[in-house]
Amino acid sequence: MGIPRTKEEVVERYSRVFPRASRVTYTPLVGVRAENAKVWDIEGREYIDFLSDAAVQNVGHNNPRVVRAVKEQTDRLLHFTFIYGFPVEPLLLAEKLAEIVPVRGPKVSFGLSGSDANDGAIKFARAYTGRRTVLSYLRSYYGSTYGAMSVTGLDFEVRSKVGELSGIHYIPYPNCYRCPFGKTPKTCRMECVEYLKEKFEGEVHAEGVAALFAEPIQGDAGMVVPPEDYFRKVKKILDEHGILLVVDEVQSGLGRTGKWFAIEHFGVEPDIITLAKPLGGGLPISAVIGRAEIMDSLPPLGHAFTLSGNPVASRAALEVIEEIEERGLLTRAEKLGKYTKKRLEKMKEEHELIGDVRGLGLMLGVDLVKDRETKERAYDEARKVVWRAYELGLILAFLQGNVLRIQPPLTIEEELLDEGLNRLERAIADVEEGKVPDSVL
Ligand code: PMP
Repeated sequence: MGIPRTKEEVVERYSRVFPRASRVTYTPLVGVRAENAKVWDIEGREYIDFLSDAAVQNVGHNNPRVVRAVKEQTDRLLHFTFIYGFPVEPLLLAEKLAEIVPVRGPKVSFGLSGSDANDGAIKFARAYTGRRTVLSYLRSYYGSTYGAMSVTGLDFEVRSKVGELSGIHYIPYPNCYRCPFGKTPKTCRMECVEYLKEKFEGEVHAEGVAALFAEPIQGDAGMVVPPEDYFRKVKKILDEHGILLVVDEVQSGLGRTGKWFAIEHFGVEPDIITLAKPLGGGLPISAVIGRAEIMDSLPPLGHAFTLSGNPVASRAALEVIEEIEERGLLTRAEKLGKYTKKRLEKMKEEHELIGDVRGLGLMLGVDLVKDRETKERAYDEARKVVWRAYELGLILAFLQGNVLRIQPPLTIEEELLDEGLNRLERAIADVEEGKVPDSVL
């Protein structure tokens, strides 16, 4: 069949070989080349990537420093299994990660995706505590493998078809815009914290709980930021019962929110952190990082993959971390995040479609609503905005059907960020003015 020449041909051939289970697409975007925050498609059209490749490209697409190191590494050693031998690159990476994580005396286990890291975290937490129950949040996303899928609270459809791990319980995530307890900031009595306490007095025996899984900011749930003191209060309750706090930093980690790890905004030290997406700068690598005594609780090969600690991916990850350090990208993410949020809030003043703007650093969400009072989610409008943005040369996606996901690379040029925001505003205005046809839905 040969190399495809048009996006239509690519899309058609995709549908023949890939099952729908592995993808969700909004536009026929066939990216063939990328550089920092720009992507070019098969027809040579240029796009600004506000999605960072699904929060992967924190240091920008094809970061030159990462590419250089990967080329050098591929010339020398593509792979040397970590399981039987001692490749040096994963060692250097683990030591570097140990310097930056807010976990005391950590040890590191490498994998290939956010999903397998979360599976690992379930295993380490259960083995260390000798307990089986795991608590998680409604609307959370932890991944696609069996364990990660089982603690995910976002979508129960797959599980109804394939089964799941037993012993998982869910609690509502604190959401001050769409409060699950029907409260407003004025009437809030932190019912979300009370709910956890009540759970332990009723349905769940606290002394049987191994861990609570939490995203410090819920990403796929629509960029939901908890109140500042929420995790401190929760950690106190967990500590009273010897329950571990597992923090999933797969989407929020490595500078995305203006700190190395989003949990640092909340002054809490987790027991285990999981990491993936941006870690390898585009190469597959993940990490479970936890206190040494927790990580030493599984026997040899208790959580191991032949390709984990791959030298090329490890080398890329080291460069990603050093790039963030040396270019001061934590400060940059904070600064650009504040600027972006301000511009989005300004857009909210002018566009009724925007119900809420939220997030930290460059992990932002724009909640589109049909009505600001009822906060009814504007599903069709969100789909149209994403489509129109694509036509205007801006890569976007939506979460929960209606929340625009704004996560540009931390390295995006300021002019390009501005241009992307201009295109976003234009897309929103065009949808409000009925210029985008229903045929795109
Ligand atoms: N955890 C979080 C918070 C995520 O956002 C994702 C991916 N969206 C995952 C885990 C799963 O990561 P992966 O797709 O690399 O398995």
